[in-house]
Amino acid sequence: MKCPRCLNEDRRYFYKGSKGWYCRKCISFKRVLIKEEIEVQDYAISDVEVKIELKYELTPYQKKIAKEAIETIVSSDILLLCCTGAGKTEISMPIIATYLKKGKRVCYAIARREVVLELYERFRSTFINNTVTRVCGGYTDELYADLIVCTTHQLYRYHHTFDLLILDEVDAFPFKGNDTLNNIALTSLTNDGRIVYSTATIDDHIQKIMRKRPLKTLSLQRRPHGRPLIVPKVKIRPKAILYLELLKILKKTDRQTIIFTESIRICKFLYRILKRVFSVTYVYSSLEERSANIKAFKEKKFRFIVATSVLERGITIEGVDVIIIKFYDGIFDKASIVQMCGRVGRSFKDPYGNSYILTTSKDEAIRQAIAEMRKANEVYLL
Ligand SMILES: [Zn+2]
Repeated sequence: MKCPRCLNEDRRYFYKGSKGWYCRKCISFKRVLIKEEIEVQDYAISDVEVKIELKYELTPYQKKIAKEAIETIVSSDILLLCCTGAGKTEISMPIIATYLKKGKRVCYAIARREVVLELYERFRSTFINNTVTRVCGGYTDELYADLIVCTTHQLYRYHHTFDLLILDEVDAFPFKGNDTLNNIALTSLTNDGRIVYSTATIDDHIQKIMRKRPLKTLSLQRRPHGRPLIVPKVKIRPKAILYLELLKILKKTDRQTIIFTESIRICKFLYRILKRVFSVTYVYSSLEERSANIKAFKEKKFRFIVATSVLERGITIEGVDVIIIKFYDGIFDKASIVQMCGRVGRSFKDPYGNSYILTTSKDEAIRQAIAEMRKANEVYLL
């Protein structure tokens, strides 16, 4: 027995109800009967001239990799390996346009809701003639458009639907290491559908994907402004001294800074301490004022923001520095350290900046993240 949606074959997850066998592995996404033909929605792509309007033209490096992607996708799935800030969303636009021009169905899926909302706006202002929809928690009214931007949790709605699925940031939780979500992504493809996996770091999870489905890797380790990634300075101290280090850095700097913490508890604690002295706001995923606080920080109304990993990806704030406070093993992994540091030096106007890791011990995740950033920067030595 095999679940038609999440491909589960483990007998322990199959139950027999009054209507027949069903799968409990993916039941949180609506019950699916094993013998059921899941309805495939038929919708057509608008018959309009597909036009891309970008704020900045793609760099020659971006154009080259976009062209390679269009050629490669004919015969193979793709792993798009790009350093943070290389512009992987922009790189994927020409390939999306190629599919839309042929009347094919395209979806851009990513783990986090916040990023879906931001990307939706970007795609809407880029694909000026096509319809775009966002599908994520709070936005499930319009399920179909020429281009669907959704969270990976919403892919269960699109059984055997897409000719092209762009799966962005496959190294991010909760998609990373979640077999059910990974398989639902696979069954959202048509029989000859293709996937572009996109990531900044390769880890065991991606290697597992690569073993399942052959992928051709296309790599761009260069930011559009041609400046290298900012590699963090690491300070190893006892916990109490680390807080003093933090105060020292904040007192000296005149730049906006994101302070990443490992838990909501530490985030709130630091916010309470820092707000006595500095102009500071805070953010974590369940905070009601989350969007308002991020917006205020982007508008430069605060010098500092204390955050959990909720700000780790998909957000670009011009001219920020980053401080990562790391007390524990296993909370910030290599991929999230690379992403957090990747917030620095993203803009043309201000491609520089500083990042720090304040930690009680230098663990494997820090070592690997730094090695990866240094390796990405090697392209500038060539
Ligand atoms: Zn299932």
